[in-house]
Amino acid sequence: MRVFEDIKTFRAWRQGLGLQGRIGLVPTMGALHAGHLQLVERAVRENDHCVVTIFVNPTQFGPNEDFERYPRDLAADTAMLKAAGVTAVLAPDHKEVYPAEPQFYFNIRQLDKRLCGASRPGHMNGVVQVVSILFNLVQPSHAYFGEKDYQQLRIIQTMAQELHFPVEVVPCPIVREADGLAMSSRNRYLDPTARQQALALSTLLREVKERKVELSTPEAALAYVQKRLADFPLVQLDYFEILSGETLEPIPDVAPARQPHAFMAAYLGKTRLIDNMPL
Ligand code: AMP
Repeated sequence: MRVFEDIKTFRAWRQGLGLQGRIGLVPTMGALHAGHLQLVERAVRENDHCVVTIFVNPTQFGPNEDFERYPRDLAADTAMLKAAGVTAVLAPDHKEVYPAEPQFYFNIRQLDKRLCGASRPGHMNGVVQVVSILFNLVQPSHAYFGEKDYQQLRIIQTMAQELHFPVEVVPCPIVREADGLAMSSRNRYLDPTARQQALALSTLLREVKERKVELSTPEAALAYVQKRLADFPLVQLDYFEILSGETLEPIPDVAPARQPHAFMAAYLGKTRLIDNMPL
């Protein structure tokens, strides 16, 4: 497995692979866990070569977010990726990716108006910016994204389609801990008490799904979640929303034809966690 920190050397290597064959890309911010590995193992299986990028992208973090303290562990990450059969890792410095202040800003018309797009201004611009850069550098035929970041996935799918990137975006299901907590690099911030209460996200999403007959409108589901949060005093709700899983627009009820999808974000102290579930 090759590990590139330098973009120029990576591009020369990529050119050597030529334009034939299937190249799978898995973009990550590192601090890898089994959720990432699911994407990687699938990309290894389904392609001639799998390229994993490890890049904590500064442009998708807000000024008061955790860019500085985001976990970084390149040695452990590359050991895992080598064992998984990855061909190459690109882990560039942010000064190489953004030699100057970026001049282009992506203004998304609809898909980022709610959920994380609304509560993290500028975040989805940063995501689209870095993914388009990575698509240009790696030139993958297939790119693997987790449903854990469902809004990000919908935005990238739409971007690839609308801007005619010759890349097939492959969605991958959420990988959870045995007790239901969605795996996340940020879970390592949690102390044991916070880790226990972090179960609020997966638990309440599941409860809303199980009760969708009585909680048949987004308002009823939200009221239920707010009431249930009394049992999770460390959890501060950022949002709980039920939207169309297709358009990410509000829906009046959870009839199956509307593809109802529940989304939740919450803080445990300074740690912000997200989760989602189709109803
Ligand atoms: P990140 O390193 O957090 O930017 O994540 C890199 C990719 O891994 C994204 O496409 C995420 O959606 C995906 N991912 C992260 N955690 C999980 C998980 N628990 N299950 C499935 N995919 C995940």
